[in-house]
Amino acid sequence: MKIAIAGFGALGSRLGVKLQKAGHEVTGIDGWPAHIAAINTNGLTVVHDDLPPKKYFVPVVTPKEVTGEFELIILLTKTPQLDRMLTDIAPIITKKTQLLVLSNGLGNIEVIEKHVARDQILAGVTLWTSSLVKPGEIHTTGTGSIKLQAIGHADAVSVAAALNQAGLNVEITQDVLTAIWHKAGINSVLNPLSVLLNANIAEFGTAGNGMDLALQILDEIQKVGATQGVKVNITDIMNDLTDLLKPENAGNHYPSMYQDIQNGKRTEIDFLNGFFAKIGRQEHIDTPFNALVTALVHAKEDIERVK
Ligand code: NAD
Repeated sequence: MKIAIAGFGALGSRLGVKLQKAGHEVTGIDGWPAHIAAINTNGLTVVHDDLPPKKYFVPVVTPKEVTGEFELIILLTKTPQLDRMLTDIAPIITKKTQLLVLSNGLGNIEVIEKHVARDQILAGVTLWTSSLVKPGEIHTTGTGSIKLQAIGHADAVSVAAALNQAGLNVEITQDVLTAIWHKAGINSVLNPLSVLLNANIAEFGTAGNGMDLALQILDEIQKVGATQGVKVNITDIMNDLTDLLKPENAGNHYPSMYQDIQNGKRTEIDFLNGFFAKIGRQEHIDTPFNALVTALVHAKEDIERVK
């Protein structure tokens, strides 16, 4: 399949390499000059599970340079960057192009609907991970999976088959929104609290009131979800959080929002806690914890002068 990955950063690069290795014709689309130059000159360096580095040559171009038709475009920008990316790659999107968004957070489908018909959209949630340690180099561990769903009448079966050919462990679900809200619930606890407490996931777990804070945030998300017809299962999320705290799982990991602040980048807070606070306001549901966490992360962004 001819596949473009719009947002060839940490996760886009990892999935791009796997898809290319499976025989798909993959093009990366990105706007970071140093990263593009490093990959196009020396290849993408992948360090997996502390094994010796390997190099992969996936062509990467900017949105202005990209040409041709793609059967599938996988959208993997950070959530606040999605709208701009879709505007910039509009010339390569035809009525036959299918678009799969795997970015975290809520509201992505609504953003994509401003650019293409509903029948071209697939939405997914992924447990694959990756860290971009410097231009042209990613570090990866373990494996992952993807749950996806066609939002209208997109061809989820052929997209899932193409991705599964690359070992991406894709499952088609009829309820991707529940999976997206579940992951957003986890991220709405671990991401902002890592920033505000200056802690990795295991350190957050040592806070005596850490799980109480998590419950307050999740209780609000559950009430907001009910207004949107989405069931948020707090027990399931708390069980996943407890697992993630263990050092052998993700305990030593600093969540992506923490890394964004360190790297001077704007965070995805408006698409996590900020999204829940906004819908809460519209639906007259009180969301003081999510609203406060959102305001504090924005304050931190200002203090760190993120771009
Ligand atoms: P990233 O910042 O490493 O990658 C995004 C890439 O998009 C960057 O290289 C950036 O240059 C590019 N980009 C953004 N806007 C652009 C534009 N208009 N034109 C050209 N290039 C543009 O982010 P990431 O860590 O790969 O995460 C991507 C998404 O996947 C996020 O929503 C994240 O929450 C989600 N996610 C990431 C991981 C992970 O482990 N990295 C895991 C699961 C989900």
